[in-house]
Amino acid sequence: MKHSLQLPTFEKKMKMLTNRTFTMIKPDAVKNGHIGAILNDISEAGFKIIAMKYIQLNKEQAGAFYAVHKERPFYNDLIEFMTSGPIVAAILEKEGAVEDFRKLIGATDPAQADEGTIRQKYAKSIDANAVHGSDSNENAAIEGDFFFSKLERF
Ligand code: ATP
Ligand code: MG
Repeated sequence: MKHSLQLPTFEKKMKMLTNRTFTMIKPDAVKNGHIGAILNDISEAGFKIIAMKYIQLNKEQAGAFYAVHKERPFYNDLIEFMTSGPIVAAILEKEGAVEDFRKLIGATDPAQADEGTIRQKYAKSIDANAVHGSDSNENAAIEGDFFFSKLERF
């Protein structure tokens, strides 16, 4: 019997690159009981969930994920915090996903975040800021691949 592996076309690949972002609901928001409210905001804003899991990162995994921030003064605290409890990781889809999701979550520091944004509503400080959102299409793909295999995407 002939098996054919469905390879995405070039157009489909390009669309996946610009229409997807990666997010985490961070340990503070999970502990404070905001998973449901945040997923609801994400869904109401028109994002479709392509992949999702509930896991706790170890130091090695969090260190690898945040390797770009290795030289920043807050790196150790960031790793400590991100491994302090479970997180929800997800790949989201919407046209212009990266930019629209950054708008939905608001500024890194919740005190600077616009009214109605996820960080303004659910975050208390710059280090415990409720959610992560990819900052570019390239990083969205890298971060999604870090957490999810092809079989875990729908
Ligand atoms: P994220 O990558 O989590 O979506 P971001 O892109 O808005 O956030 P980054 O500059 O990538 O911000 O920083 C990554 C994370 O490191 C921030 O979300 C925050 O939790 C933490 N962080 C950033 N700046 C500071 C700071 N000055 N002090 C403490 N923690 C910080
Ligand atoms: Mg960032």
